[in-house]
Amino acid sequence: MTASAQTTARLLIVGPQGSGKGTQGVRISEALGIPVVSTGDIFRANIKAGTELGQQVTAILQAGDLVSDELTGALVRDRLAQPDAVNGFLLDGYPRNAAQVVQLDDLLAESGTALDAVILLDVPRDEVFARLKIRAAEQGRADDTDEGITHRLDIYERETTPILEAFGARGLVDRIDGVGGLDEITERIFAALAARGIVDGAAA
Ligand code: AMP
Repeated sequence: MTASAQTTARLLIVGPQGSGKGTQGVRISEALGIPVVSTGDIFRANIKAGTELGQQVTAILQAGDLVSDELTGALVRDRLAQPDAVNGFLLDGYPRNAAQVVQLDDLLAESGTALDAVILLDVPRDEVFARLKIRAAEQGRADDTDEGITHRLDIYERETTPILEAFGARGLVDRIDGVGGLDEITERIFAALAARGIVDGAAA
């Protein structure tokens, strides 16, 4: 899979935790030569490194709550200003609520850009719950308790699914069936990106 010659793609991948966003995001990023900008990964890296930001957000991530829009927005602003993200990026985990959509719109408008597509990885709640239980057993992520998983899925449904309406009204959302083999799902995503002219049709 290759990106078409002069593609600059500003993409967002949305889905509940456990929908496969991370795995598919890496594949999209590699094929298009754009960085994944995952706010969750940035927060976790800061916690691990013991930075001031890490200390500020440790308890919030552990509780499965959302970090403030101010802190998250400032972090994304810094990250998107870095040279590797100037011509494109794949956002994962941001924006996550209506206020962050406005934040991102304003930020991109400053450089005369906007999102090109929103990939929604659609996976039923029962299925992601089961996947997250397996991940908890395998990786022991601190926020992967039953209560934590339920809480985060509730927040996703309440805070994040409404943003799809806003992006849907702009004709940006590609709803991808996220149940199936990894390669099969990747193919679905690339077919959708090809239909938008973001990747070569032949490559999809
Ligand atoms: P994720 O890896 O995207 O599931 O994010 C892990 C955790 O990081 C979330 O449960 C939140 O506590 C925090 N987080 C990540 N992205 C955001 C965001 N856009 N807004 C607020 N909190 C976030």
